[in-house]
Amino acid sequence: MRVLVVEDEAALRDSLQERLAAAGFSVDVARDGNEGLFAGLEYPLDVAVIDLGLPNLPGLEVIRRLRAARKTYPILILTARDNWQDKVEGLQAGADDYVAKPFHFEEVLARLQALLRRAGGWASPQLNCGPVVLDTRAQTVAVSGAAVELTTFEYRILEHLMLRAGDVISKTELTERLYDQDFERDSNVIEVLVGRLRRKLDPQDELRPIETLRGRGYRFALPRDAAS
Ligand code: CA
Repeated sequence: MRVLVVEDEAALRDSLQERLAAAGFSVDVARDGNEGLFAGLEYPLDVAVIDLGLPNLPGLEVIRRLRAARKTYPILILTARDNWQDKVEGLQAGADDYVAKPFHFEEVLARLQALLRRAGGWASPQLNCGPVVLDTRAQTVAVSGAAVELTTFEYRILEHLMLRAGDVISKTELTERLYDQDFERDSNVIEVLVGRLRRKLDPQDELRPIETLRGRGYRFALPRDAAS
């Protein structure tokens, strides 16, 4: 998942960048409102964290302009504690949730994960599709109750596909949202990783959880359980 962090306090920005990357996100950062607006409009994002108090262009204005440009990814705002007006204005401008400063990183992470799964139409942090179960909190995967060991990138691909189970996801989207900019973008890498994922999830080639749509991309093909 690719996240944009717009925060002018360097220490806070660096810490969010480092910890979100450690949690498996591909992270873009911006230091003020103008940079944030540019990144928010131009980068292929899944979610954004935007501080309201920003130099050059206020966070509220960044959010309004992103929404006016029909950017629909979830936005989490960082607000001053005890300032309810900030929270209300932020939500009215188009943000989806807020965290008050100072915050614990775990709260930011939990809220981002909740926003991402709701954007994918999931109510619970555990994604159930037939025998395949992915737990977005523990970052674990099981098939028919047996744990499946995945590498970081295999897990990221599967999580991305399962969060949007049923949708076709292009190879370009997978590459852009799973790797940082400095990674060499080679779509063959995605093919190799998807091939390995298939063998790990479905060694007997019976379930066929990931479908290839020639020239279009991949789709997680097992239906979501109704109760999820
Ligand atoms: Ca600030």
